[in-house]
Amino acid sequence: MDINDTKAFIDQHIDLFGKEFYSDINKKPDIRLTNPKPTNESIFSFKSSIENCKRCNLGMTRNKFVFGSGDPKADLLLVGEGPGEKEDLQGEPFVGRAGKLLDRVLKAIGYTREKKVFITNIVKCRPPDNRDPLPSEVKECSPYLDKQIDLIKPKLIVALGRVAGKTLLQKDILLKEMRNETHYFNSIPLRVTYHPAALLRNSSLKIETWKDFQYIRDFLEP
Ligand code: URA
Repeated sequence: MDINDTKAFIDQHIDLFGKEFYSDINKKPDIRLTNPKPTNESIFSFKSSIENCKRCNLGMTRNKFVFGSGDPKADLLLVGEGPGEKEDLQGEPFVGRAGKLLDRVLKAIGYTREKKVFITNIVKCRPPDNRDPLPSEVKECSPYLDKQIDLIKPKLIVALGRVAGKTLLQKDILLKEMRNETHYFNSIPLRVTYHPAALLRNSSLKIETWKDFQYIRDFLEP
């Protein structure tokens, strides 16, 4: 155990048991030190620390900062593009028609947005008139997503749509070229599928999307 492991162990012990230190020198600690899952507190305190962000112009025009929501210990992290009108008013991701469809797809694979799933976006504030976020806005906001990923430590990241896919992959390619392949984002497996709003516009994409979500289900619970 090096000094960082020891510190992680003590921090985790304090989290679990408070400041009284229990030890049994004959027994090895059975608390896992590698990749400890975050406490709810850490993601919530991160949210409070950034929700007044004004790093880019979107911070001047938004109604609400949309941090994301769901299970802070999620296995599955879904990443959309950016909040739309409803999300901006409510401060929650994917609450409009596309979100309702996403809820149905999640239900079909046995998930809900509260359990084992966390939903967020590439940018946390609504781009006016639902335009694509500008590269400068993505750049300012991306440390927030990086930190969310670091705190949640999902087993799988799924980018919803081309904007999320190309941002996470750092490659400007077509969505069909990103699908059906496992990529990696900071060593975490990453898949790309259609944005639910695209399914509302073109229902023939539903079959392929359903295949993607079946893959996601099997990946998470083989
Ligand atoms: N579209 C997105 O990409 N994200 C949302 O939160 C809502 C709609």
